[in-house]
Amino acid sequence: MAQVLVVTGGSRGIGAATARLAAERGYAVCVNYLHSPAAAREVVDSIVQGGGRAIAVAADISLEDDVLRLFQTVDEQLGTLTALVNNAGILEQQRRVDELDAARLNRVFAANVTGSFLCAREAVKRMSTKYGGVGGAIVNVSSVAARLGSPGEYVDYAASKGAIDSLTIGLAKEVAAEGIRVNAVRPGFIYTDIHASGGEPDRIERVKSAVPMQRGGQAVEVAQTILWLLSAEASYTTGSFIDIAGGK
Ligand code: NAP
Repeated sequence: MAQVLVVTGGSRGIGAATARLAAERGYAVCVNYLHSPAAAREVVDSIVQGGGRAIAVAADISLEDDVLRLFQTVDEQLGTLTALVNNAGILEQQRRVDELDAARLNRVFAANVTGSFLCAREAVKRMSTKYGGVGGAIVNVSSVAARLGSPGEYVDYAASKGAIDSLTIGLAKEVAAEGIRVNAVRPGFIYTDIHASGGEPDRIERVKSAVPMQRGGQAVEVAQTILWLLSAEASYTTGSFIDIAGGK
């Protein structure tokens, strides 16, 4: 059966690397994005040129109607969903907790937490044997921030990843007997654009000496682990976490 994958935030960074690698391994891929149509198009074009199947769908995962439209588009254009990578995530300018306001907290939690819950819900409705599906796999992209806390940078972001860890544990148990595995990766310091959102594009150069392996990671190193968790090679693994953080 064809494997059909939704990667949220597939236009850039870890999501783009995951979409490309998944296509190489035979998945038909939906590249979701929000603000970067050209980047999403580039990912899709490279997959199609390589002989794969992919579509790009603009949708803000924090908005319920957008999520419904995203998954309906996949149903219509790619077929039966078998995999979800809950990857899209944001962080904002580096601040202490005593400088955060409700508007920012709501933006971060809406994108990182509500968005992942809504996408997981739509995936379960399609994959669970309880709903007549054939099963599947979900990988949530958490962060080592969930256990480090990101003091002085973005504790709100770290807390949103803590919520993703709890989602992973709880949902894995809810759907384990319905043919769906749910796992998470916790990347450390990975070279992507996300650090610019925090106001420090070269953040990894500052922090990498604190990593036991003495370097930042590449997006493809995260993608390889995600693809393993999605694959049949991880058939007895659910509710699990893999840190991809050079020992941090
Ligand atoms: P990135 O380069 O900034 O890319 C973020 C992606 O998410 C983009 O494709 C973006 O789409 C999309 N996105 C953001 N908000 C969205 C929304 N509301 N709806 C749909 N798409 C949305 O980030 P990254 O570093 O690859 O991060 C990917 C994931 O890894 C995130 O969950 C992040 O928290 C996690 N992570 C990253 C690191 C790291 O060091 N990089 C470490 C730990 C965890 P547009 O391009 O269209 O805006």
